[in-house]
Amino acid sequence: MSIERVLVIGAGTMGHGIAHVAAQAGCQAYLFDVDQDVVQAGLGKVKANLQKGVDRGKVTQEAMDAALANLHAAPADLADAAKDMDLVVEAVPERMELKQSIFGTLGQACPAHAILATNTSSLPVTDIAQTSGRPEQVIGMHFFNPVHLMKLLEIVKTEQTSDEVVAATREIGERWGKTCVVVKDSPGFATSRLGLVLGLEAIRMVEEGVASAQDIDTALELGYRHPMGPLKLTDLVGLDVRLGIADHLAEVLDDRRFQPPQLLRDMVAEGKLGKKSGQGFYDWST
Ligand code: NAD
Repeated sequence: MSIERVLVIGAGTMGHGIAHVAAQAGCQAYLFDVDQDVVQAGLGKVKANLQKGVDRGKVTQEAMDAALANLHAAPADLADAAKDMDLVVEAVPERMELKQSIFGTLGQACPAHAILATNTSSLPVTDIAQTSGRPEQVIGMHFFNPVHLMKLLEIVKTEQTSDEVVAATREIGERWGKTCVVVKDSPGFATSRLGLVLGLEAIRMVEEGVASAQDIDTALELGYRHPMGPLKLTDLVGLDVRLGIADHLAEVLDDRRFQPPQLLRDMVAEGKLGKKSGQGFYDWST
Protein backbone atom coordinates (compact mmCIF):
# COMPACT_ATOMS: atom_id res chain seq x y z
CA MET A 1 0.00 0.00 0.00
CA SER A 2 1.67 3.21 -1.13
CA ILE A 3 0.85 6.27 0.96
CA GLU A 4 1.56 9.57 -0.76
CA ARG A 5 -1.42 11.83 -0.06
CA VAL A 6 -2.22 12.54 3.57
CA LEU A 7 -5.01 14.62 5.06
CA VAL A 8 -4.67 15.84 8.64
CA ILE A 9 -7.93 16.94 10.24
CA GLY A 10 -7.53 19.51 13.02
CA ALA A 11 -4.65 21.97 12.67
CA GLY A 12 -4.07 22.52 16.41
CA THR A 13 -1.23 21.40 18.68
CA MET A 14 -1.01 17.90 17.20
CA GLY A 15 -2.37 18.36 13.70
CA HIS A 16 0.23 20.83 12.46
CA GLY A 17 2.99 18.59 13.82
CA ILE A 18 1.60 15.52 12.05
CA ALA A 19 1.40 17.44 8.77
CA HIS A 20 5.00 18.59 9.37
CA VAL A 21 6.45 15.06 9.69
CA ALA A 22 4.40 13.80 6.73
CA ALA A 23 5.55 16.65 4.47
CA GLN A 24 9.16 16.38 5.59
CA ALA A 25 9.14 12.66 4.71
CA GLY A 26 7.99 13.44 1.16
CA CYS A 27 4.23 12.88 1.42
CA GLN A 28 1.80 15.47 0.08
CA ALA A 29 0.29 16.71 3.35
CA TYR A 30 -3.00 18.63 3.51
CA LEU A 31 -4.06 20.45 6.65
CA PHE A 32 -7.79 20.83 7.40
CA ASP A 33 -9.60 22.69 10.19
CA VAL A 34 -13.05 24.16 10.73
CA ASP A 35 -11.27 27.44 11.27
CA GLN A 36 -9.23 28.67 8.26
CA ASP A 37 -7.19 30.99 10.48
CA VAL A 38 -6.03 27.94 12.45
CA VAL A 39 -4.96 26.26 9.21
CA GLN A 40 -2.85 29.30 8.29
CA ALA A 41 -1.43 29.49 11.83
CA GLY A 42 -0.62 25.76 11.66
CA LEU A 43 1.23 26.15 8.36
CA GLY A 44 3.13 29.07 9.89
CA LYS A 45 4.13 26.97 12.92
CA VAL A 46 5.49 24.20 10.68
CA LYS A 47 7.56 26.78 8.82
CA ALA A 48 8.87 28.25 12.09
CA ASN A 49 9.77 24.80 13.45
CA LEU A 50 11.58 23.88 10.23
CA GLN A 51 13.45 27.19 10.40
CA LYS A 52 14.55 26.37 13.96
CA GLY A 53 15.82 23.04 12.62
CA VAL A 54 17.81 24.85 9.94
CA ASP A 55 19.19 27.37 12.46
CA ARG A 56 20.35 24.51 14.70
CA GLY A 57 21.92 22.61 11.82
CA LYS A 58 19.47 19.69 12.14
CA VAL A 59 17.63 20.33 8.87
CA THR A 60 19.14 21.49 5.56
CA GLN A 61 17.67 24.48 3.73
CA GLU A 62 16.86 22.15 0.79
CA ALA A 63 14.97 19.77 3.08
CA MET A 64 13.02 22.70 4.56
CA ASP A 65 12.11 24.01 1.09
CA ALA A 66 11.06 20.53 -0.05
CA ALA A 67 8.91 20.00 3.07
CA LEU A 68 7.17 23.35 2.60
CA ALA A 69 6.49 22.53 -1.06
CA ASN A 70 4.76 19.31 0.11
CA LEU A 71 2.54 21.11 2.63
CA HIS A 72 -0.87 22.50 1.67
CA ALA A 73 -4.06 23.95 3.08
CA ALA A 74 -6.87 21.45 2.36
CA PRO A 75 -10.13 22.46 0.67
CA ALA A 76 -12.56 23.89 3.23
CA ASP A 77 -15.14 21.13 2.71
CA LEU A 78 -14.20 17.87 4.48
CA ALA A 79 -15.70 15.47 1.92
CA ASP A 80 -13.93 17.37 -0.85
CA ALA A 81 -10.65 17.38 1.09
CA ALA A 82 -10.86 13.61 1.77
CA LYS A 83 -11.80 12.37 -1.66
CA ASP A 84 -8.39 11.39 -3.05
CA MET A 85 -6.38 10.67 0.08
CA ASP A 86 -4.37 7.52 0.90
CA LEU A 87 -4.29 8.25 4.62
CA VAL A 88 -6.32 10.53 6.87
CA VAL A 89 -5.17 11.35 10.40
CA GLU A 90 -7.82 12.93 12.59
CA ALA A 91 -6.59 15.24 15.38
CA VAL A 92 -9.68 17.14 16.53
CA PRO A 93 -10.62 17.63 20.22
CA GLU A 94 -11.11 14.55 22.37
CA ARG A 95 -14.90 14.20 22.00
CA MET A 96 -16.40 10.93 20.85
CA GLU A 97 -19.41 12.36 19.01
CA LEU A 98 -17.17 14.81 17.10
CA LYS A 99 -14.75 12.09 16.04
CA GLN A 100 -17.58 9.72 15.11
CA SER A 101 -19.20 12.36 12.94
CA ILE A 102 -15.89 12.95 11.13
CA PHE A 103 -15.34 9.20 10.59
CA GLY A 104 -18.88 8.97 9.19
CA THR A 105 -17.98 11.58 6.57
CA LEU A 106 -14.61 9.93 5.87
CA GLY A 107 -16.26 6.52 5.36
CA GLN A 108 -18.40 8.07 2.64
CA ALA A 109 -15.82 10.35 1.05
CA CYS A 110 -12.43 8.57 1.08
CA PRO A 111 -11.24 6.22 -1.66
CA ALA A 112 -11.77 2.51 -0.93
CA HIS A 113 -8.09 1.88 -0.13
CA ALA A 114 -7.64 4.77 2.33
CA ILE A 115 -6.45 4.21 5.90
CA LEU A 116 -8.45 6.20 8.45
CA ALA A 117 -6.44 7.00 11.57
CA THR A 118 -7.25 8.80 14.80
CA ASN A 119 -4.76 10.53 17.09
CA THR A 120 -7.01 10.04 20.13
CA SER A 121 -5.08 9.73 23.39
CA SER A 122 -7.77 7.95 25.38
CA LEU A 123 -11.01 7.20 23.50
CA PRO A 124 -11.72 3.65 22.25
CA VAL A 125 -10.67 3.45 18.59
CA THR A 126 -13.25 0.66 18.15
CA ASP A 127 -16.05 3.11 19.00
CA ILE A 128 -14.65 5.87 16.77
CA ALA A 129 -14.52 3.34 13.90
CA GLN A 130 -18.20 2.41 14.25
CA THR A 131 -19.54 5.18 12.02
CA SER A 132 -16.97 4.66 9.24
CA GLY A 133 -18.61 1.66 7.58
CA ARG A 134 -15.11 0.19 7.15
CA PRO A 135 -13.70 -0.57 10.61
CA GLU A 136 -11.01 -2.86 9.18
CA GLN A 137 -9.33 0.28 7.79
CA VAL A 138 -9.50 2.29 11.02
CA ILE A 139 -6.50 2.46 13.35
CA GLY A 140 -5.05 4.65 16.11
CA MET A 141 -1.93 6.69 15.34
CA HIS A 142 -1.08 8.20 18.72
CA PHE A 143 1.63 10.80 18.28
CA PHE A 144 3.33 12.79 21.05
CA ASN A 145 3.83 16.49 21.48
CA PRO A 146 5.83 18.09 19.87
CA VAL A 147 5.27 15.67 17.01
CA HIS A 148 8.27 16.70 14.94
CA LEU A 149 10.63 15.97 17.85
CA MET A 150 9.08 13.04 19.72
CA LYS A 151 10.21 9.64 18.41
CA LEU A 152 7.30 7.46 19.52
CA LEU A 153 4.24 6.46 17.52
CA GLU A 154 1.83 4.28 19.47
CA ILE A 155 -0.21 2.33 16.92
CA VAL A 156 -3.55 1.18 18.28
CA LYS A 157 -5.24 -1.74 16.56
CA THR A 158 -8.77 -2.84 17.20
CA GLU A 159 -10.17 -6.38 16.89
CA GLN A 160 -11.30 -5.39 13.40
CA THR A 161 -8.24 -3.54 12.06
CA SER A 162 -6.75 -5.63 9.23
CA ASP A 163 -3.16 -6.88 9.39
CA GLU A 164 -2.43 -5.04 6.11
CA VAL A 165 -3.52 -1.76 7.64
CA VAL A 166 -1.37 -2.35 10.74
CA ALA A 167 1.64 -3.16 8.53
CA ALA A 168 1.10 -0.12 6.28
CA THR A 169 0.69 2.16 9.31
CA ARG A 170 3.91 0.89 10.84
CA GLU A 171 5.68 1.42 7.52
CA ILE A 172 4.48 5.01 7.15
CA GLY A 173 5.27 5.72 10.83
CA GLU A 174 8.84 4.56 10.27
CA ARG A 175 9.09 6.60 7.06
CA TRP A 176 8.02 9.63 9.11
CA GLY A 177 10.97 8.96 11.43
CA LYS A 178 9.08 7.36 14.29
CA THR A 179 9.71 4.25 16.33
CA CYS A 180 6.43 2.35 16.40
CA VAL A 181 4.86 0.22 19.10
CA VAL A 182 1.63 -1.67 18.47
CA VAL A 183 -0.91 -1.99 21.27
CA LYS A 184 -4.40 -3.42 21.54
CA ASP A 185 -7.29 -0.98 21.74
CA SER A 186 -7.63 -0.90 25.53
CA PRO A 187 -8.21 1.99 27.96
CA GLY A 188 -5.25 4.36 28.07
CA PHE A 189 -3.30 2.20 25.58
CA ALA A 190 0.25 1.66 26.91
CA THR A 191 1.48 5.22 27.35
CA SER A 192 -1.42 6.99 29.07
CA ARG A 193 -2.15 4.03 31.35
CA LEU A 194 1.40 3.74 32.66
CA GLY A 195 2.31 7.42 32.49
CA LEU A 196 -0.79 8.43 34.39
CA VAL A 197 -0.21 6.04 37.29
CA LEU A 198 3.20 7.63 37.82
CA GLY A 199 1.91 11.18 37.38
CA LEU A 200 -1.05 10.76 39.74
CA GLU A 201 1.08 9.08 42.41
CA ALA A 202 3.58 11.95 42.20
CA ILE A 203 0.72 14.44 42.72
CA ARG A 204 -0.50 12.43 45.73
CA MET A 205 3.05 12.66 47.13
CA VAL A 206 3.04 16.46 46.78
CA GLU A 207 -0.41 16.49 48.42
CA GLU A 208 0.89 14.43 51.36
CA GLY A 209 3.98 16.64 51.72
CA VAL A 210 6.36 13.73 51.02
CA ALA A 211 8.66 16.03 49.02
CA SER A 212 8.54 19.11 46.80
CA ALA A 213 7.56 18.78 43.14
CA GLN A 214 11.12 19.62 42.15
CA ASP A 215 12.60 16.96 44.44
CA ILE A 216 10.16 14.27 43.27
CA ASP A 217 11.07 15.03 39.68
CA THR A 218 14.80 15.08 40.44
CA ALA A 219 14.45 11.71 42.21
CA LEU A 220 12.98 10.10 39.11
CA GLU A 221 15.31 11.90 36.70
CA LEU A 222 18.55 11.03 38.48
CA GLY A 223 17.48 7.89 40.35
CA TYR A 224 15.73 6.13 37.47
CA ARG A 225 17.09 8.04 34.49
CA HIS A 226 13.71 9.41 33.45
CA PRO A 227 14.46 12.26 31.03
CA MET A 228 11.78 14.37 32.72
CA GLY A 229 10.07 13.99 36.11
CA PRO A 230 6.32 13.15 36.25
CA LEU A 231 5.26 16.58 37.56
CA LYS A 232 7.12 18.61 34.97
CA LEU A 233 5.66 16.28 32.36
CA THR A 234 2.18 16.87 33.79
CA ASP A 235 2.80 20.62 33.42
CA LEU A 236 3.73 20.13 29.75
CA VAL A 237 0.80 17.84 28.94
CA GLY A 238 -1.66 20.12 30.74
CA LEU A 239 -3.25 19.41 34.13
CA ASP A 240 -6.74 19.61 32.58
CA VAL A 241 -5.78 17.06 29.93
CA ARG A 242 -4.41 14.67 32.56
CA LEU A 243 -7.48 15.17 34.77
CA GLY A 244 -9.76 14.32 31.84
CA ILE A 245 -7.85 11.13 31.07
CA ALA A 246 -7.70 10.13 34.76
CA ASP A 247 -11.47 10.56 35.17
CA HIS A 248 -12.03 8.50 32.03
CA LEU A 249 -9.69 5.68 33.07
CA ALA A 250 -11.00 5.60 36.66
CA GLU A 251 -14.46 5.07 35.23
CA VAL A 252 -13.77 2.54 32.48
CA LEU A 253 -11.17 0.52 34.43
CA ASP A 254 -13.11 0.94 37.70
CA ASP A 255 -9.77 1.33 39.41
CA ARG A 256 -8.72 3.49 42.38
CA ARG A 257 -5.22 3.93 40.95
CA PHE A 258 -6.69 6.35 38.41
CA GLN A 259 -8.82 8.40 40.82
CA PRO A 260 -7.55 11.97 40.39
CA PRO A 261 -6.05 13.45 43.61
CA GLN A 262 -7.98 16.40 45.06
CA LEU A 263 -4.91 18.60 44.50
CA LEU A 264 -5.17 18.00 40.75
CA ARG A 265 -8.87 18.93 40.72
CA ASP A 266 -8.18 22.05 42.80
CA MET A 267 -5.34 23.24 40.58
CA VAL A 268 -7.43 22.79 37.42
CA ALA A 269 -10.33 24.67 39.06
CA GLU A 270 -7.91 27.52 39.90
CA GLY A 271 -6.75 27.67 36.26
CA LYS A 272 -3.32 26.24 37.06
CA LEU A 273 -3.11 24.11 33.92
CA GLY A 274 0.67 23.89 33.60
CA LYS A 275 2.92 25.48 31.01
CA LYS A 276 0.09 26.73 28.79
CA SER A 277 -1.41 28.81 31.62
CA GLY A 278 1.94 29.95 33.05
CA GLN A 279 1.50 28.05 36.32
CA GLY A 280 1.31 24.40 37.32
CA PHE A 281 3.62 22.51 39.63
CA TYR A 282 6.22 24.94 38.30
CA ASP A 283 6.12 28.65 37.48
CA TRP A 284 6.27 29.01 33.67
CA SER A 285 5.44 32.72 33.59
CA THR A 286 8.99 33.91 33.01
P1 NAD B 1 -6.19 21.29 19.76
O1 NAD B 1 -7.35 21.83 20.50
O2 NAD B 1 -4.87 21.96 19.85
O3 NAD B 1 -6.56 21.19 18.19
C1 NAD B 1 -7.76 20.65 17.74
C2 NAD B 1 -8.14 21.38 16.45
O4 NAD B 1 -9.31 20.75 15.90
C3 NAD B 1 -8.50 22.86 16.64
O5 NAD B 1 -7.69 23.64 15.80
C4 NAD B 1 -9.97 22.95 16.23
O6 NAD B 1 -10.29 24.15 15.55
C5 NAD B 1 -10.10 21.76 15.30
N1 NAD B 1 -11.45 21.26 15.13
C6 NAD B 1 -12.48 21.26 16.01
N2 NAD B 1 -13.56 20.70 15.45
C7 NAD B 1 -13.21 20.35 14.19
C8 NAD B 1 -13.90 19.73 13.11
N3 NAD B 1 -15.17 19.36 13.21
N4 NAD B 1 -13.24 19.55 11.95
C9 NAD B 1 -11.94 19.94 11.83
N5 NAD B 1 -11.24 20.52 12.82
C10 NAD B 1 -11.86 20.71 13.99
O7 NAD B 1 -6.09 19.75 20.22
P2 NAD B 1 -4.81 18.81 20.22
O8 NAD B 1 -4.07 18.97 21.51
O9 NAD B 1 -4.08 18.95 18.94
O10 NAD B 1 -5.50 17.36 20.31
C11 NAD B 1 -6.08 16.76 19.20
C12 NAD B 1 -6.21 15.28 19.44
O11 NAD B 1 -4.92 14.73 19.70
C13 NAD B 1 -7.06 14.90 20.65
O12 NAD B 1 -7.74 13.70 20.37
C14 NAD B 1 -6.02 14.67 21.75
O13 NAD B 1 -6.48 13.79 22.74
C15 NAD B 1 -4.92 14.05 20.94
N6 NAD B 1 -3.57 14.16 21.52
C16 NAD B 1 -3.14 15.33 22.09
C17 NAD B 1 -1.83 15.40 22.60
C18 NAD B 1 -1.29 16.68 23.21
O14 NAD B 1 -0.26 16.63 23.88
N7 NAD B 1 -1.94 17.83 23.00
C19 NAD B 1 -0.99 14.28 22.53
C20 NAD B 1 -1.45 13.11 21.90
C21 NAD B 1 -2.74 13.06 21.41
